[in-house]
Amino acid sequence: MCLGCGARLPKREMLRIVKTTEGEIKTDPTGKLNGRGCYVCGKPECTALLRKKRKLSQSFGCEVPADTYDRISTEINEWLTENGGQNIE
Ligand SMILES: [Zn+2]
Repeated sequence: MCLGCGARLPKREMLRIVKTTEGEIKTDPTGKLNGRGCYVCGKPECTALLRKKRKLSQSFGCEVPADTYDRISTEINEWLTENGGQNIE
Protein backbone atom coordinates (compact mmCIF):
# COMPACT_ATOMS: atom_id res chain seq x y z
CA MET A 1 0.00 0.00 0.00
CA CYS A 2 1.32 3.44 -0.93
CA LEU A 3 2.40 5.55 2.03
CA GLY A 4 1.07 8.67 0.32
CA CYS A 5 -2.30 7.93 -1.25
CA GLY A 6 -2.98 4.48 0.21
CA ALA A 7 -3.43 2.92 -3.24
CA ARG A 8 -2.90 -0.81 -3.43
CA LEU A 9 -0.92 -1.63 -6.54
CA PRO A 10 1.12 -4.64 -7.61
CA LYS A 11 4.51 -4.52 -5.93
CA ARG A 12 6.30 -4.20 -9.24
CA GLU A 13 4.48 -0.93 -9.87
CA MET A 14 5.59 0.53 -6.58
CA LEU A 15 8.94 1.50 -5.16
CA ARG A 16 10.02 -0.10 -1.92
CA ILE A 17 11.73 2.01 0.69
CA VAL A 18 13.57 0.05 3.32
CA LYS A 19 15.15 0.66 6.68
CA THR A 20 18.02 -1.78 6.68
CA THR A 21 19.18 -3.74 9.68
CA GLU A 22 22.00 -1.16 9.93
CA GLY A 23 19.37 1.57 10.28
CA GLU A 24 20.03 3.05 6.86
CA ILE A 25 17.00 4.28 4.92
CA LYS A 26 17.12 3.81 1.16
CA THR A 27 15.02 2.95 -1.83
CA ASP A 28 15.06 -0.68 -2.87
CA PRO A 29 14.06 -1.11 -6.52
CA THR A 30 14.93 -4.82 -6.37
CA GLY A 31 12.65 -5.38 -3.36
CA LYS A 32 15.24 -7.76 -1.95
CA LEU A 33 16.97 -5.84 0.81
CA ASN A 34 16.53 -7.07 4.34
CA GLY A 35 14.79 -4.76 6.75
CA ARG A 36 11.52 -3.05 7.36
CA GLY A 37 9.92 -1.86 4.15
CA CYS A 38 7.18 0.39 2.92
CA TYR A 39 6.03 1.38 -0.54
CA VAL A 40 5.28 4.46 -2.59
CA CYS A 41 3.45 4.51 -5.90
CA GLY A 42 5.64 7.24 -7.38
CA LYS A 43 3.05 9.93 -7.94
CA PRO A 44 4.62 13.37 -7.33
CA GLU A 45 2.01 14.23 -4.72
CA CYS A 46 2.83 11.07 -2.79
CA THR A 47 6.53 11.88 -2.84
CA ALA A 48 5.68 15.35 -1.54
CA LEU A 49 3.43 13.89 1.17
CA LEU A 50 6.22 11.66 2.42
CA ARG A 51 8.13 14.73 3.45
CA LYS A 52 5.22 16.95 4.43
CA LYS A 53 3.67 14.40 6.77
CA ARG A 54 6.97 12.80 7.77
CA LYS A 55 5.63 9.47 6.60
CA LEU A 56 8.98 7.71 6.74
CA SER A 57 9.43 8.64 10.40
CA GLN A 58 5.99 7.24 11.16
CA SER A 59 6.47 4.13 9.15
CA PHE A 60 9.91 3.28 10.50
CA GLY A 61 9.32 4.54 14.02
CA CYS A 62 12.43 6.70 14.12
CA GLU A 63 13.65 10.20 13.35
CA VAL A 64 14.32 10.66 9.66
CA PRO A 65 16.47 13.70 8.90
CA ALA A 66 15.54 16.18 6.18
CA ASP A 67 18.50 15.20 4.03
CA THR A 68 17.26 11.61 4.00
CA TYR A 69 13.92 12.83 2.66
CA ASP A 70 15.84 14.81 0.03
CA ARG A 71 17.78 11.73 -1.01
CA ILE A 72 14.72 9.46 -1.05
CA SER A 73 12.79 12.02 -3.14
CA THR A 74 15.64 12.14 -5.63
CA GLU A 75 15.84 8.36 -5.78
CA ILE A 76 12.07 8.09 -6.34
CA ASN A 77 12.38 10.54 -9.24
CA GLU A 78 15.28 8.60 -10.73
CA TRP A 79 13.27 5.40 -10.44
CA LEU A 80 10.33 7.05 -12.19
CA THR A 81 12.56 8.31 -14.96
CA GLU A 82 13.99 4.86 -15.51
CA ASN A 83 10.83 2.83 -15.15
CA GLY A 84 7.85 5.09 -15.46
CA GLY A 85 6.61 3.44 -12.29
CA GLN A 86 5.78 0.30 -14.22
CA ASN A 87 7.10 -3.17 -14.82
CA ILE A 88 9.86 -3.36 -12.25
CA GLU A 89 11.59 -6.71 -12.34
ZN1 LIG B 1 0.55 7.03 -3.86
